[in-house]
Amino acid sequence: MSKEFNAFEMAQRQFDGVAEKLGLDEGMRELLRWPQREYHFTIPVRMDDGSVKVFKGFRVQHSDSRGPSKGGIRFHPQETVDTVRALATWMTWKCAVVDIPLGGGKGGVICDPHDLSAREQEQICRGWVRQVVRNIGPVQDVPAPDVMTNPQHMVWIMDEYEKIMGGHYPGAITGKPVELGGSLGRTEATGYGVIYTVREALKRLNIPVEGIKASMQGFGNVSQYAAKLLIEMGGIVTTVSCWDNDDHVAYTYRKIEGIDLDFLLSITNRFGTIDQGKAEEAGYERLEADAWIEQDVEILIPAALENQITGDTATRIHSSVKIVAEGANGPTTPEADAILKERGIFVIPDFLANAGGVTCSYFEQVQCNTNFYWPKDEVLERLDQKMVTAFHAVADLSEETGEFMRDAAYMIAIQRVATACHLRGWA
Ligand code: NAD
Repeated sequence: MSKEFNAFEMAQRQFDGVAEKLGLDEGMRELLRWPQREYHFTIPVRMDDGSVKVFKGFRVQHSDSRGPSKGGIRFHPQETVDTVRALATWMTWKCAVVDIPLGGGKGGVICDPHDLSAREQEQICRGWVRQVVRNIGPVQDVPAPDVMTNPQHMVWIMDEYEKIMGGHYPGAITGKPVELGGSLGRTEATGYGVIYTVREALKRLNIPVEGIKASMQGFGNVSQYAAKLLIEMGGIVTTVSCWDNDDHVAYTYRKIEGIDLDFLLSITNRFGTIDQGKAEEAGYERLEADAWIEQDVEILIPAALENQITGDTATRIHSSVKIVAEGANGPTTPEADAILKERGIFVIPDFLANAGGVTCSYFEQVQCNTNFYWPKDEVLERLDQKMVTAFHAVADLSEETGEFMRDAAYMIAIQRVATACHLRGWA
């Protein structure tokens, strides 16, 4: 009988492998295998029809050894505490690999926002805060948006927190609208961060960026800004893909000489779906969903979903590909990793490549805490510096030890967290 996939067991297995390589002692391993704290609670909400519905909520703080926990809140009907535990653990490693003074956390509510009015969602957000108000905040744990939550949810959360605390605490939460303490540059941060690391990888591989070709999976927030910056640097994006809501399948759109980004954006809806008819009319080839992976390009950027580069699809990667930069979380399976390793493809692992988002959230928190807001250029310049430093630390270790980039990134992150725990005398 096949056992259901459990993300937390996978996160623990990944950790165990790296802990072994680092030679961490038993106490440290036991400490870092588990979340430090978890809150499980109920949120009663008076629904629009007058009935009361009770929602289940969570907040998991995996580690705050390096600073306040940081991580999103998801609204999802299939949310499980083990998924939240895994995501909190991965946040600890992501913050550590880019060396920002934050730990890892994640939260969730089991609900489907599609079936809830705005007022009901607001009540869930406010109820969520009331349950954890003593355990979150600028110096304890800083939530952010995630799946099916957005800047409006963050404002409701901040407002309830401030009402209870009796003061202004914009640094209690990130992902807010710019009008209420959000950071300029956050929209661009993840996609740009991916390309900052690609630019550095090209330098290490002695490949000029001018004329470099890329194929991307997805055409949402991450890939749109990754495409924008790569094109500005002289690169060419030949292929992007997206989900089509009408046909219930994904398609790949290709223009060999390079996409016209402004045009494609003008025919793309806010969910990242390209208008099929208009694209074809403008001469874009519409190919099958997985076609993005077999293009004759130097760079592949999966930026849609997890589990996309698998043992099967990895064999279709063109011999021209030099770099895989993981914009999405978890796009590559362990079987595919083995193939990429054997073929000598340079992989920029997800929790390094897409760390621009959380780094900018950290900048948002810093700006809120000091009540002084930076211009966009300054945000992006600081982001670039952070990503460059993090990337080269990982690439240096990978080169020195012969470890795969993903393993080198985990080694740096876990060692930093272990050092913080050790210095504090926890293990
Ligand atoms: P998004 O919702 O803005 O865009 C997702 C895109 O993927 C859309 O174009 C959608 O049509 C496409 N898509 C969905 N299913 C597809 C399929 N089967 N095949 C091809 N395309 C498909 O999402 P996003 O914010 O760009 O996030 C993309 C990935 O990056 C996710 O894994 C997310 O967790 C990760 N990520 C995002 C951020 C961020 O700041 N946005 C930060 C870190 C990681």
